[in-house]
Amino acid sequence: MASPASNDASVLIVGAGTFGLSTSFHLAKRGYKNVTCLDPWNVPSRSSAGWDISKIARTEYANPIYTRIAHESLDAWRDLEPFASAKLFHQTGWLYMKPHDVPPAVASRFETALQQTKLVGDISQVEYLPDENAIKIKCPLISGDLNGWSGIFNGNAGWVEAKRSMEVLVEECSRLGVRFISGPAGTMKSLLRGEHDNEVLGVVAQDGTEHLADLVILATGAWSESLLNFEGQLFSGAYNLCHIQLTPEEAEKYASLPVLNAPTRGYCFPPTKDGIFKIASLGYTNTNYVDLPAHPQFRVSVPRDRAFNPTDTLSEESIAECRKIAQACLPELGDRDLCYSAMCWDTESFDFNWIISPHPSSTRLFIATAGSGHTFKNLPVVGKYVADCVEGNLPSDLREAWRWRPDRVRDFPPLERVDIKSMHGWRHDGKSETDV
Ligand SMILES: Cc1cc2nc3c(=O)[nH]c(=O)nc-3n(C[C@H](O)[C@H](O)[C@H](O)COP(=O)(O)OP(=O)(O)OC[C@H]3O[C@@H](n4cnc5c(N)ncnc54)[C@H](O)[C@@H]3O)c2cc1C
Repeated sequence: MASPASNDASVLIVGAGTFGLSTSFHLAKRGYKNVTCLDPWNVPSRSSAGWDISKIARTEYANPIYTRIAHESLDAWRDLEPFASAKLFHQTGWLYMKPHDVPPAVASRFETALQQTKLVGDISQVEYLPDENAIKIKCPLISGDLNGWSGIFNGNAGWVEAKRSMEVLVEECSRLGVRFISGPAGTMKSLLRGEHDNEVLGVVAQDGTEHLADLVILATGAWSESLLNFEGQLFSGAYNLCHIQLTPEEAEKYASLPVLNAPTRGYCFPPTKDGIFKIASLGYTNTNYVDLPAHPQFRVSVPRDRAFNPTDTLSEESIAECRKIAQACLPELGDRDLCYSAMCWDTESFDFNWIISPHPSSTRLFIATAGSGHTFKNLPVVGKYVADCVEGNLPSDLREAWRWRPDRVRDFPPLERVDIKSMHGWRHDGKSETDV
């Protein structure tokens, strides 16, 4: 076996989503010659959280680590190939508003995020908007009254074309020699372990193929917990998104909109060139807890994957959540018919930090997951940190923040979630919502 950190090592990356593609890219760029990436789907994967038209790319976080990395990512979207030439980043600015009625804890997170940006980021394009008049002067398209709201506008931020970014990265990875395997042979069923020492030797795929490797990196996003026991560190949740088809005249009218974002209201994007206006809610995730016969020792929330359930939409409750941002800021669009709505799954860690870490059971198994709703913006750079971890070069603060840490779970009270089985209107295949 080649030493795991050597360029000759065979590396098997399970999952071709944000973590998996970015890691494939950075390992291949460092000269790793034998990188294989598995996914049930031809890449870019229809199951991945990034199978979406747009994602926010901004920098304000309560934790300085993510503020720093988000800045690094913004630079990479602009300057690093293949992202730069493909022009995937749209610098429309990001208008982050604080409604008059947000709970104090949310308001204080907003203030902390601003402080972090001041300390470790670039605030040259941040403008403070102390009241609704300032907000409307900054963004005259806003027609809602927003009484008592305040906010910031960061002209350095914007949004990225999500699915196209993955397509561009897959093309670059293939050019650099990464091998992609899809279908049943690309779908991990279980880890393959040595009989005597329990070391990970590779992965057994759904069709029985045994993929042997010096190193396995598990990057299976919302599916991670159904493949390995994470000892309570993760839970998978559905975020909600809807599309409204605008007329060409409306698309032109709203073209200069920045990304609008408000805690407890959600967020929306400027229309795409096809006139799709996306509204979404992020602070409200749903679970789908099931008993898995393959893993009787742990109960997990498993994605109800829209790629395999194409008639699913959002529940009535979730659509109401998504509409809130438009109802508040652009009420003329707030109740418009939807042309699409979907649950989109990501996995959150108990403290919203990534897990980028060796796994305690084997020196040949690494974990790269827990996107926690904020990772797509880091597609160009997150894999660099995974590669550093594999090579044993992560700085100590990052090693500590991202380590395998079930010992810390009990320090964080679980958040309240609603299970999709108790929600209404999302199922359209003739079966009941409770019958998952
Ligand atoms: C609706 C929504 C909106 C979001 N908005 C933003 C935003 O605006 N900005 C932002 O930065 N982030 C955003 N995020 C978060 C971001 O998209 C995720 O954090 C990130 O994409 C997660 O990456 P991942 O690699 O962990 O998972 P994914 O990208 O989902 O990848 C996991 C991959 O594993 C594959 N897989 C699953 N099971 C198996 C198996 N058995 N064998 C092989 N492969 C398998 C899947 O097919 C998938 O391709 C959003 C997420 C959602 C859901």
